[in-house]
Amino acid sequence: VKKQYYSQLASQFGRTDKAYEYRMQNISYVLSLMGREWLNGLRPAKNVGANVAAQIEGLLLEAEAIKAPPVAAFKVKVREEVEDPLSDSPPAGARRPTRSLAEVTTYERDPLVKAWVLKAANGTCECCRRAAPFASPDGLPFLEVHHVRQLADGGSDTVGNSVALCPNCHRELHYGADSRSRIEGLYAHISRLVRE
Ligand SMILES: [Zn+2]
Ligand SMILES: [Zn+2]
Repeated sequence: VKKQYYSQLASQFGRTDKAYEYRMQNISYVLSLMGREWLNGLRPAKNVGANVAAQIEGLLLEAEAIKAPPVAAFKVKVREEVEDPLSDSPPAGARRPTRSLAEVTTYERDPLVKAWVLKAANGTCECCRRAAPFASPDGLPFLEVHHVRQLADGGSDTVGNSVALCPNCHRELHYGADSRSRIEGLYAHISRLVRE
């Protein structure tokens, strides 16, 4: 029960229950920037600055023992800038962007699982039911295989947790405002999926 956590935090650290709910929604916002799923009932609230977003992202990754390149601060800055009117003088950018090496957590996936899901989809996106938008150079219809419960959230690499998607639907499932209802739609329409 989320409300109990807010009251507990409020009695421990002061401020109102509502303030803690809002902080939880800030965490959802950072998760959404990371392309991750957020908690049901805690819609992302975007009023968080780049520095705090970076801190939250760091704490989430630390808590999950996952290494990933930071994205939150960059995305928050872009979002803040996008809200200002377009300036006549474009930014200079960088002729040679600085490079850096990063350690990243990866998951070993089973190629047989991916192949099975692609064959079952037979060239059609399992979310929007449209044909793959283009062919790969090898002639196969281009679809991406997505884990409905993400591997970073403990999801399995099995056909019961995988769907073949067009790139638009795949992006939407990670970054769309309605990603949660899309996920529910997948569970409702694809009988092989098992909720994890
Ligand atoms: Zn689609
Ligand atoms: Zn995905």
